[in-house]
Amino acid sequence: MFLSTLSSSKTTAILLTIGSLFTNINGQQPGTNGFDLIARKTSLWPGRQIPVCWVPRTGKQYTTEKGWTRSAVFNTWASSTHDIVTFTGWGECTTNQKAIRIRITDAADDAPHTLGLGTELLLREDYGMSLNFEFKNWCPQCIVSQSREAAIRIIAVHEFGHALGFGHEHAQPGAKPTSMCSKEDIIQAQERYGNDYPVSKYDYQSVMNYCNENWNGGGSLSTLDVKGFLTLYKSLQGYYGSCTLASGPRSLVCVAAASRYCSSALSKDVGFTQAIIKATPEADTKYGVLCARSSLLGWVPWNQIPNCQGYSQYMTCFASLSSYCLAKASSSIGIIQETRSDSAKVACVKADSRWSVSVSTLKSYNSACTSISLAQSVGCTTAAVLYCRSKSGAGYAGAVIYGIDGSLFKVGCVYNQNFKHVRVEKGF
Ligand SMILES: [Zn+2]
Repeated sequence: MFLSTLSSSKTTAILLTIGSLFTNINGQQPGTNGFDLIARKTSLWPGRQIPVCWVPRTGKQYTTEKGWTRSAVFNTWASSTHDIVTFTGWGECTTNQKAIRIRITDAADDAPHTLGLGTELLLREDYGMSLNFEFKNWCPQCIVSQSREAAIRIIAVHEFGHALGFGHEHAQPGAKPTSMCSKEDIIQAQERYGNDYPVSKYDYQSVMNYCNENWNGGGSLSTLDVKGFLTLYKSLQGYYGSCTLASGPRSLVCVAAASRYCSSALSKDVGFTQAIIKATPEADTKYGVLCARSSLLGWVPWNQIPNCQGYSQYMTCFASLSSYCLAKASSSIGIIQETRSDSAKVACVKADSRWSVSVSTLKSYNSACTSISLAQSVGCTTAAVLYCRSKSGAGYAGAVIYGIDGSLFKVGCVYNQNFKHVRVEKGF
């Protein structure tokens, strides 16, 4: 709430007074439709972990209040229900620590606020977010109709919305003054956030909306807050920051992102990027992801899977993984999900059917699949998907080329139930 977002560097915070807050909570409520949230596209967090720390202070340490703040955030934006971002750290800030630095103050003219949106907060060496835990000097009326704990939680949800890159919802066309916001509040918000991205239409019930007569939505995200947040943040890049459109779907980083996406979003433990499926309207921004349940999943030392270290998405490695999985789990498909210096995270998956397919056959499904040496390329994995889908009545949608037999590809087809097109990069 009451925030100030500043475009220039060391500017004085423009703090909004609370004005007519709480004077009337029974005013007419404008309708809600469409999506909501207004976001600064350039300030979205690239990875899922966002570091947070508390600016050291003398006197009262507010351990309980810090806990309320943290729990409010973990029950909303960082909820395990959608498992998109997590705020990490929460210790006392050290010198030069790169984190959202949160200070605690109760100066009368110092409303809770952030100095910027999203990743901009990392640039703030003094503090990036300011919270109030007392309400003695600033906004005593905030704790008249609700407890101090409730007020702390409600404010935390709003300020962490700014920390994720969201501006004030009442900057959107459609906002009207209510008992909680004035025309000036709306104009000021439009001046600050007018150039930021409206995820969609105005949402009266947003936690980011001053005009919401249920103060900051009572600290509960509106349906459209969640939808807008997921629209921007649910992406492969969100699961693994290095995965971008430039990385390509068959890169190790994007396979790792697919693995994390599948395990958290769909409770499946294997992810495999298939290709860009050109039939979808968003083909240029999404990758096809096959999610499956593995019969074996674990970290395997490199020496047990020859030809894989440094070449985990290459055909020789897939053949090696297939041998490993057949021996350990009677599964013909093995996929490396992530790697570290001494080992690889290997998933073994049973193919629902297996086929030996010639280059010319796969090429007929995708003209870029021209050679047996391209087995793990985007062109051939796309061709394999289309090949499996063409099996009449079988309902396959995913495929893995798990080996080579002479001049033939070994293709494993997997049923449709866990195939998704997933946005690659955050934002738009
Ligand atoms: Zn605000």
